[in-house]
Amino acid sequence: MGAVLDLAERMWNGQGPDQHVMRHAHALVSGFVGIDEVATGVAFVGSFANVTAIDTALGLVLVDVGSPLLAPRVRQAVRSWSSAPVHAAVYTHGHVDHVFGFGAYEQEAQEHGWRAPFVLAHEAVAQRFDRYRMTAGYNGHINMRQFQLPVPMFPTEFRYPDQTFRDHHVLEVGDERIEIRHARGETDDHAFVWLPSRGVLATGDLFIWAAPNCGNPQKAQRYPLEWARALRQMAGLQPKVLCPGHGPPILGQTRACAALSDSAELLESLHEQTLALMNQGARLDEVLRGVIAPAHLLERPYLRPVYDEPEFIVRNLWRLYGGWYDGNPAHLKPPAERAWAQELARLAGGASRLCERAVALAEQGELALACELIESAALAAPDDPGIRAERGRIYRKRAHASESLIAHGIFDAAARESGG
Ligand SMILES: [Zn+2]
Repeated sequence: MGAVLDLAERMWNGQGPDQHVMRHAHALVSGFVGIDEVATGVAFVGSFANVTAIDTALGLVLVDVGSPLLAPRVRQAVRSWSSAPVHAAVYTHGHVDHVFGFGAYEQEAQEHGWRAPFVLAHEAVAQRFDRYRMTAGYNGHINMRQFQLPVPMFPTEFRYPDQTFRDHHVLEVGDERIEIRHARGETDDHAFVWLPSRGVLATGDLFIWAAPNCGNPQKAQRYPLEWARALRQMAGLQPKVLCPGHGPPILGQTRACAALSDSAELLESLHEQTLALMNQGARLDEVLRGVIAPAHLLERPYLRPVYDEPEFIVRNLWRLYGGWYDGNPAHLKPPAERAWAQELARLAGGASRLCERAVALAEQGELALACELIESAALAAPDDPGIRAERGRIYRKRAHASESLIAHGIFDAAARESGG
């Protein structure tokens, strides 16, 4: 058994990397595992993000190609398994960890005099790349926080698809039938790939060995209900092998269907509860307090909130069905943050009093309250080195207490800002 299948078995049994390691296994640098055959003529490359290679009579079809940093290792792994020409690559979506490295296969084809390979993707991938070029600075900064990078980093050159589709597409390659279906979920340009003859399903990021990345606070809209429907549809295919966008493959129909159905149930529950409260006229804060993610689902080894969090999914639903107004009239046209913080400091008897209380609350484990107060103290007295240092310590503590990569990254960035 190779490294990929070994990790697959351990993670299914809840013996995967611990939380802390998980967060970093999801991070950009340490995410290469290896290559294993998961069905006859289908190889899975465990990486950040994963790549699935399908051997057909006309050459290899790759599902995703890799991330900017790991694509060369992915290619090495693919080439250790097969020397056949690459016929095509299918992007499951346009996130940058899935769409880099195609140029090397094109170059290879040229050198060998093979037919040029092509890229197939959903029609919205091109708009995504256009948007990425327009917002590269913003994306660099959010990735710096999310993945704890030293400097903003985001690409501005992309390999656009040669062929696109809207709802579904069937790729007939030799005698291989590869079905590609579009589903909005993590993104508006998502697709999953189904190989009926081999019972292999490649989900893209519709399944990632974590609670769905469906609420990401720094990124564009996600689609929880359509995502849940796609998961149900994929479970209905009764795959024997599930190749996810991140994390190891899942082998066996019972396991694959359980993973897909449980993920759907989590999203359906959050969706139903959020919508019920919104329809009752609740404020966002009441919705955030009122929606309870089913604990038995979050305990599944493949649904732990180690990347995104249910609370963020609730906010994402609020944005999808509502607007940005949270229902608190004071928040419609609020004062400047600094003016509000100075007023609070005046009431408390100075910014240092706010800071003292923040430290006391942090010691009691009341980290959300502590962060509110220390943030106000720092805004009211931005040049106070003592307050800056406490701010760093409090956010450092909050980062350590956060299970999800996203919350950890954002709090850690705040700590670093204060030299914490
Ligand atoms: Zn991804």
